[in-house]
Amino acid sequence: MSIISQYIKISQLIDKSIQNCVLSQKQVAILGASKGQTVEAIEEAIRAGVILFGENRVQEAATKWPTLKKRHPHVKLHLIGPLQTNKVKDALALFDVIQTVDRPKLAEVLSAELRVLSKNAQHSALKTQHFYIQINTGEEPQKAGVLPKKADDFIAYCEKDLKLPVIGLMCIPPADQPPTPHFALLRKIALKHGLKELSMGMSGDYETAVRMGSTCVRIGTALFGARLG
Ligand SMILES: *Cc1c(COP(=O)(O)O)cnc(C)c1O
Repeated sequence: MSIISQYIKISQLIDKSIQNCVLSQKQVAILGASKGQTVEAIEEAIRAGVILFGENRVQEAATKWPTLKKRHPHVKLHLIGPLQTNKVKDALALFDVIQTVDRPKLAEVLSAELRVLSKNAQHSALKTQHFYIQINTGEEPQKAGVLPKKADDFIAYCEKDLKLPVIGLMCIPPADQPPTPHFALLRKIALKHGLKELSMGMSGDYETAVRMGSTCVRIGTALFGARLG
């Protein structure tokens, strides 16, 4: 199936799931998870109507996106993969939103760099407007994200001490478990902190995520088909 027909199908299933949402959620953004996809495939998704994309690696995004952004200024780009502190400057210049703030050191470097950039009024070097905090809801040792029991302190640290503009939470539930309790936990933590955005749901579970209150589903294979490499 073409990207446009996949996009229409996904949009319809999301509209249906919104009817059964636990919140009075009316809008869900479809983020095209474009890692491993060519510029041509991304262009096709943009023609289909996708206006939000996510990349996992700063380096891959840096090769594909400066041209795409110039051609399509309305499109927004999120970082949805782990960020190393030595890539913070590049990430802040490239992504509109960083969804993967997952540890104190990274939050501190982001905050310090934001302060430098805003003081020097280097507007072209600063694109990032908002941040999400990634929660490791399944407490998986190999997975990035703050542990749920540390989430309250970490969110408060980012917002109050570091003054990071945090607007939401993100999670990737364990692949071998039903996702519903993980989505419920993420929503609970977000509500407690008044955070409006919930980035949860991928190709396999986005309908469930929408019913659980997702505001941003990250769709790769169901939109683009299989990834290269
Ligand atoms: C690759 C990726 C996705 C999309 O995964 P699919 O199962 O292909 O939809 C979503 N979120 C993150 C963080 C990813 O790395």
